[in-house]
Amino acid sequence: MAFQNVTIAGTGVLGSQIAYQTALNGFNVTAYDRNPDTAKKRVSALKASYQNDLGLSDDEFNAGLSRLSFTADLAEAVKDADYVIEALPENLEIKEEFYKQLSKLAPAKTIFASNSSTMVPSQLVKFVDRPAKYLHMHFANKIWKCNVAEIMGTNETDPAVFQEVVDFAHVIKMVPIPLHKEQPGYVLNSLLIPFVISAMALWVKGVADPQTVDKDWMISTGSPVGPFMMLDDVGLRTVWNIVTNLYESRHQEIFKVIADRLKEMIDAGHEGLELGQGFYHY
Ligand code: NAD
Repeated sequence: MAFQNVTIAGTGVLGSQIAYQTALNGFNVTAYDRNPDTAKKRVSALKASYQNDLGLSDDEFNAGLSRLSFTADLAEAVKDADYVIEALPENLEIKEEFYKQLSKLAPAKTIFASNSSTMVPSQLVKFVDRPAKYLHMHFANKIWKCNVAEIMGTNETDPAVFQEVVDFAHVIKMVPIPLHKEQPGYVLNSLLIPFVISAMALWVKGVADPQTVDKDWMISTGSPVGPFMMLDDVGLRTVWNIVTNLYESRHQEIFKVIADRLKEMIDAGHEGLELGQGFYHY
């Protein structure tokens, strides 16, 4: 494997998972975050999930931790990095500032990847000094069990770099999903977003209620969950944000009708699974 030292920049919800999963699989990992104490707590809090879902012993979990260090100093974090995965907030200004700094501080060998969910690599590559070594590696939440890594470059990404990242994905026990072209939403969200929008259109048009839509989907396809169960799991605030952005970019009335109905639910405190009530009661 070409990489030894991996730096994760931004160790919030996703970055903490990527940092731990990478350390568990034998790499020296540096977690860079402006708030390293919170990052440490987030990583420690993964213990119960790794033990329950993967059956890790205390010693195995601690072996992963022993390969992980934390810092708020970017120069220190990247001084010998082979690979940097950025998982900073989904905000263009924060990512722009980061990539400009990173380009100055990282050695020439370092490959850069973003975990951005909604940006495509050509939006961010202009902020880096090495377009041939820039691409996206997009993980799903709960990476230890929902273990896909969608990998997408620009037409400037070196194919050898792309392959090294695919190889790395295998080593950290992800299933790599290589994309041959830029695609907003990668594979999963390209499928999932039209699917859940269609389900919500059936609901707001009064064609069928959410439970009936889910029942049809689950019985017909054998899937254990329906679209409204998925929406409750994601959380209706995030869903409202996505639908509102679609309305602003496409100006189709159906998005506004869906957003307004979701807003009524959010205002009533029915935000989904986390709050115990969404389309379902938990
Ligand atoms: P988050 O808000 O949980 O974490 C961001 C982290 O970055 C925090 O720990 C914060 O302290 C740190 N941070 C913020 N600004 C910083 C700065 N200027 N310098 C250093 N550290 C800084 O975010 P998240 O949900 O983990 O998302 C991160 C990225 O991962 C986004 O690009 C998002 O699109 C992507 N993503 C998220 C999910 C998800 O389910 N949450 C899934 C796939 C991809």
